[in-house]
Amino acid sequence: MRLLLLAPPGAGKGTQGERLAAWSGARHIAAGDLLRAEARADGALGREIAAYQARGDLVPDQIVLDVLTPAVVEAAACGGYILDGFPRTLPQATAAAELATRLGVTLHAAVYLHAPEAVLTQRLLDRASQSGRSDDKADVIRHRLQVYAETTGALVPYYAERGILVSVNADQPPDDVTADIQARLARLPGAPAEPGDRPPGAPS
Ligand code: ADP
Repeated sequence: MRLLLLAPPGAGKGTQGERLAAWSGARHIAAGDLLRAEARADGALGREIAAYQARGDLVPDQIVLDVLTPAVVEAAACGGYILDGFPRTLPQATAAAELATRLGVTLHAAVYLHAPEAVLTQRLLDRASQSGRSDDKADVIRHRLQVYAETTGALVPYYAERGILVSVNADQPPDDVTADIQARLARLPGAPAEPGDRPPGAPS
């Protein structure tokens, strides 16, 4: 299966991405995690990425594409992908679509997880003390939500126009969000019919 998760910070992309990967056999590709790993590496590129992330600004598109493309290409060849946090801009969405065309694959759905901003802010503040992330601070959290609203939010109509948007209420307990996503996806061609249908190690 090939999906992307489109959601503001705090909506639960990471949690749902991991669960959907285990359910479908596709690979969970978390843009923030890959960029954080790159940021920890020595060198100018790592420092540049770390600085964007610490401010809550988007990392420039070309850097994101350079980091993400190899993972997407590899996953496309074996079981598909759950893209978590990529694309986040219209140029990234265009580049992702071009890459998919080049690989001869299509996206089954763009899962949009939505929740009220007050809920998102509270969740991010609650996890801030344990996350150890440089961007989990009140002012940076506010900025990340603003960047989402100003830039990434434009991808909701983009995927709606393409007929693949699946909107799910993320203001519910994680298990209920997962169940809602799975119920919606189970109707798509190529999806496991029921959660847990896929035996461990089954080919995708
Ligand atoms: P969250 O969604 O909670 O902000 P992520 O781990 O997905 O957490 O992203 C953290 C940061 O990583 C972002 O604020 C941004 O700096 C960077 N980032 C992640 N994905 C992208 C992307 N697709 N384009 C640009 N920057 C990104």
